Amino acid sequence: MPIHTPKRGFSFEFFPPKTEAGRRRFGKVVQRLAQLAPSFVSVTFGAGGSTREGSYQTASEIVRTTDLDVTPHLSCIGSTVEQIAAQLDTYRAIGVDRVVALRGDVPEDEPDLPRAFAYANELVEFIKASGGFHISVACYPEYHPEASDPSADVDNFVRKVRAGADEAITQYFYTNDAYYRFLDQVHAQGIDLPVVPGLMPMTDYQQAQRFSRFCGADIPRWMRLRMEALAEDSDGQKELGIELATRQAEDLLRQGAPGIHFYTLNRAEPTLRIWDNLGLPRVAAPAPARPRQRDLRPS
Ligand SMILES: Cc1cc2nc3c(=O)[nH]c(=O)nc-3n(C[C@H](O)[C@H](O)[C@H](O)COP(=O)(O)OP(=O)(O)OC[C@H]3O[C@@H](n4cnc5c(N)ncnc54)[C@H](O)[C@@H]3O)c2cc1C
Repeated sequence: MPIHTPKRGFSFEFFPPKTEAGRRRFGKVVQRLAQLAPSFVSVTFGAGGSTREGSYQTASEIVRTTDLDVTPHLSCIGSTVEQIAAQLDTYRAIGVDRVVALRGDVPEDEPDLPRAFAYANELVEFIKASGGFHISVACYPEYHPEASDPSADVDNFVRKVRAGADEAITQYFYTNDAYYRFLDQVHAQGIDLPVVPGLMPMTDYQQAQRFSRFCGADIPRWMRLRMEALAEDSDGQKELGIELATRQAEDLLRQGAPGIHFYTLNRAEPTLRIWDNLGLPRVAAPAPARPRQRDLRPS
């Protein structure tokens, strides 16, 4: 199957920058990646107070300064039902009509945060009932770390899809077979929504180990050995990470994946290089940031 077809969707995930310098750098990253004309960009949600605000501020800043479709993440943890309803209204008012609906995780230092719903399927149901949003959900080809067993995790995912999801985005993984097997399990239950693989280029091995310990994404032995051989060579790790992610994405697209969701970690270069390696088209020179007025939509 050709790598690029108009039907595929490529999206980029960002997190809200935490400092003023980070915000300035972030604006440039967004402008550089905007030239690839992604289907949408998403902004993560932190359950703690400041990061929750950061998600809205970052999403609305991208809406204000670019023509990109923005998909904020929303989680059950860190908000009350009323706060989620109000947040959806605010997003509608600035022209945002897509969200990623998540359960989220309880931050270690803030165990007593409100929890609007127990699981993401209830949040999906709530957003669906409120109307007007395209809803993405998360899934885990190597299974969610808290799942009692793989088939229970798939059943829970299927429940979430049936609650009204339009698309799923996977946790990152480095073994494509896990994704293909997961799709088989999901298809066997009659589910055929797009399941877009999440791609996390391993450009910093120590960081990847930290993330993977937390989220359960396996780093295969051959990859660990190759990265460990570059323990003192951060540029070498980056080059290898980009090369391996390119090959991984190429295989996923050739096997028919509906697109790729790039976990950018707020960096432009790895995504741009993988994009070029894959021969995907660059559509425009980076546009300067400019204010924009979006249509207001009724809530
Ligand atoms: C694409 C993507 C984006 C993400 N973005 C963010 C983000 O912005 N902010 C953030 O904090 N985290 C984010 N995460 C991480 C996510 O919040 C965590 O993985 C979290 O632990 C699970 O969220 P979920 O929506 O998948 O939960 P759920 O679908 O609710 O699943 C959570 C666990 O509960 C089980 N479960 C589900 N429903 C039931 C049920 N009814 N009964 C019993 N068990 C059930 C599932 O099997 C799973 O083990 C993201 C993950 C992905 C893949």
